[in-house]
This record gives sequence, structure tokens and C-alpha cells, in this order.
Amino acid sequence: MKTDILIIGGGSIGLNCAYYLLKSGRGVTILESKEIPKASAAFGNAGQIVPSHIIPLAAPGVVTSALKWMLNPQTSAFGMKIRPDAKYISWLIQFARSCTEANLKRGIQPMQRLGQLSAINFQKLIQEEKFECHYQRTGMITIFKDEKTFEAGKHEGEMLQKHGIEIEVLDKNRLHTLEPILRDDVIGGVHCTGDAFLNPSMFLKSLYERVRAMGANIFENTPVIGFEISNGKITKVKTKTQEFEAEQIILATGAWSSMLARDLKIKIPIQPARGYSVSMSAPKQMLRHAFTLGDLHVAVTPFGNILRATGRLEMGEFSTTPNQTWIRRLENFMREYFNFDDDVKMIDSWAGLRPVTPDGIPIIGKSPLHSNLTIATGHAMVGLTMGPATGQLVSELVNGKETSIDINAFRLERFL
Ligand SMILES: Cc1cc2nc3c(=O)[nH]c(=O)nc-3n(C[C@H](O)[C@H](O)[C@H](O)COP(=O)(O)OP(=O)(O)OC[C@H]3O[C@@H](n4cnc5c(N)ncnc54)[C@H](O)[C@@H]3O)c2cc1C
Repeated sequence: MKTDILIIGGGSIGLNCAYYLLKSGRGVTILESKEIPKASAAFGNAGQIVPSHIIPLAAPGVVTSALKWMLNPQTSAFGMKIRPDAKYISWLIQFARSCTEANLKRGIQPMQRLGQLSAINFQKLIQEEKFECHYQRTGMITIFKDEKTFEAGKHEGEMLQKHGIEIEVLDKNRLHTLEPILRDDVIGGVHCTGDAFLNPSMFLKSLYERVRAMGANIFENTPVIGFEISNGKITKVKTKTQEFEAEQIILATGAWSSMLARDLKIKIPIQPARGYSVSMSAPKQMLRHAFTLGDLHVAVTPFGNILRATGRLEMGEFSTTPNQTWIRRLENFMREYFNFDDDVKMIDSWAGLRPVTPDGIPIIGKSPLHSNLTIATGHAMVGLTMGPATGQLVSELVNGKETSIDINAFRLERFL
């Protein structure tokens, strides 16, 4: 089958690429190995639109913190699968080496620009398309019980402010006035007032339906299993039942990207980082903001009649079966910060795979080895947030336009 643009992967990034490409007048086909939007790592995620998350995952102090957390397995935000796999070990070494001041400096401004572009695009997209997804712009508050972590949170807030992120430090009184449902031992918070949140599965479903209505040809349960390449051009994309020929191809396969890269004979260093979510019925007094429990690195978000907690980052884990011990812990962490009524109950649990690069910065750009391939992956903790900006940038690249922001820091070439 012949098509103009072929997008591989129908997750957060693939759907956004489809939307902006269709808007620019291009014809789009999507190949998704499972079901859209259920297969996406964004389906059961925290739904936080956090342009304030501009610090790359590989930042100074991360390795030390990860080791410290692992000594306390009951509450550790971090876990790691031991896998005797040379690529995985080399990725871990590369990640540890990237946790430097230099990587932070290199990544923070590009992440800030990407986040700001996405925040603007999100507002426009949801307003123009009238998506029903409980989108709210009251910001995200990181809250603390521990004095020391609160101080560290304030310090990080000051740093973010220097990079143009709007921050308000909330003392106990102000915080409890804003959110009376908080437990008394929560001592303060740092409010990122420019952040927002929404129900991610409702958002993805709306986007999926919109791109279909705009004319996208969508093939679900159709994994890509191989390629034919001739003179540096991908001439065929193979599935079990069909072959596709496309003018331009977009690789947006999230945590699975390095597997497809092998067949493309290019190195895309992505490893999965599994995380969990637990969804609860709404308390009578519903939360008005999105939260991060700063002492535990757990996100808590209200949408409609669902309250969700997400957490854990388990490196190198490909299974999406939720670990019930962690699901119960997430529920308990939430109860330790908020006063719920007795009838608040767990209604669902889920696990998803974040796609992570060794420097914690996404990959967005043209393939250096294939004339008709664009790569958009590696968004780690912020692939929902950065979706609309990435979609716009990919559309600009494919259409040969100047990109709205400088994408040099995102190019794959940094790993080659
Ligand atoms: C617990 C948790 C909480 C999170 N919270 C947030 C949050 O609050 N805010 C935020 O911004 N981000 C959050 N994230 C991160 C975000 O969900 C991811 O960064 C994002 O989903 C990545 O988007 P993607 O399109 O690259 O990958 P995905 O959304 O995973 O999509 C990739 C798609 O490619 C498909 N695919 C794979 N291989 C093939 C193949 N061979 N052929 C065809 N299709 C294929 C997959 O089935 C999948 O549907 C969270 C993630 C987790 C796990």
C-alpha cells in the first residue's frame, strides 16, 4: 500500500504527529502494534501537563539518590532490573555518566522551550477541538511533610524560576486554605502555577477520533516487523500481512524504539522505565490541583470522578503487569497525605513503560542515515506534556520548514 506519511506507533507522540501533519495538509497512515489508545504509556499515566519539568532525568545527584532509595525498598521511587544484556549495561553506564552539571546545562533551556510550546499548543488544541478530558489549568503543587525535602524543593523552585517557570512557595496556612483535604502534617508546597492536568485516556481517545475524522488511515493490531532499505531510503515497511511504501516515515514507538532501530541499522538508545498507577473513586471533597508528594516522588491527580496516584521508576523492565505490592503502597501513600472519606476505594491499577534516553532528553529529528525517516521518541516522564510540541516540530521537519524552536539538543546525532 502506498501512502504519503507513515507513522509507526499510535501513542502520545504518534497521535500528536498525525494531528499536526494532517493539519498541514499531508496524508497520514498510522501502524500500531496493539490497540489505540490502550497500548500507550500515557493511557493510565498521571495526566499532568508539566512544562515545569525541565530538568532532564539525567541530572547531578540522581545516581546517589537512586542508590539511597534502593536501600529503602519499602518507599523507594526507583528500582532496577538486572539484565545480562550488553546494550542495557552500556545504556546504564551512559546514563550514570550523563548525570552531570554539563548535561543539566545542555538540556534545561531546550526542555523549557519544548515545554512552553507544548503548553500553548495544548490550550489551543483542547479549545479548538473541544475535547472533553477534564483539562484544568490550576497548576501542580509539590507538597512536603519533611522539612529537609521542603527546603530542597524550594531550592529547586528558585532554579526553575531563573529559567522562566512561574513558582509560588506555599506555607502551611496558604496550602491548607487552597486544599483543605490535606492532612495536618503536610507542612508546605511549591506551586508550579503554569502547569495543568487532564484525564490522559480521554485526551488520547479524543485525539485518536479526531485524527481518524481528519482522514488518517489507522491500522491497529498491526506491528511493524521489518524494513527494506535502498540507497539510504526506507523503501518498504513490513507488517505480517502487508507492505507499505511512504514518502516519509515517522518512528514514534516509545519504549520499543530500540527494537525497531535494530532493523533500521541505526542506534536509538532507549530503555523502558516502568511505572504504576492506581485509580481511586473520588472523595466527597475532590482535589482542586495536581500534586507531587515531594518526599516520595508520587504524582496525584484528580480528573472528574477519578483520583489517581502514579509512581515508581523501574529501569529495564519490559513487562506491563502491575506489581500489586507497589499498587497497595501507592494507595497508602495517597492516604498518608489526604484525608479521604471511608468509602474512597481503589477502582483500577495499571503499569506503563516510559521511553528513556541515556541523557534524559528526548530524541526529535531527521534520521542521519535515512533520507525519509524522522524520529520522535525518548520523552521519559513528559511524553504526554511534550506531545503537542513534538507533533508540531515533526510536521515542520517533514514539510521542510524552519522549526518553531531550535531542535539541536534533541538530535539523535549526539549518541552516534
Ligand atoms: C506511571 C507513569 C506516569 C506518567 N505520568 C506522566 C505525566 O503525568 N505527564 C507526562 O507528560 N508524561 C507522563 N508519563 C510519561 C508518558 O506517558 C510517556 O512519556 C509517553 O506515553 C511516551 O509517548 P510515546 O508515544 O513515545 O510512547 P507510547 O505512548 O508508549 O506509544 C508508543 C506506541 O508504539 C507502539 N508500538 C511499539 N512497537 C511497535 C511496532 N513494532 N509497530 C507498531 N507500533 C508499535 C506501542 O504499542 C505504543 O502504542 C508517565 C508514564 C508512566 C509510566
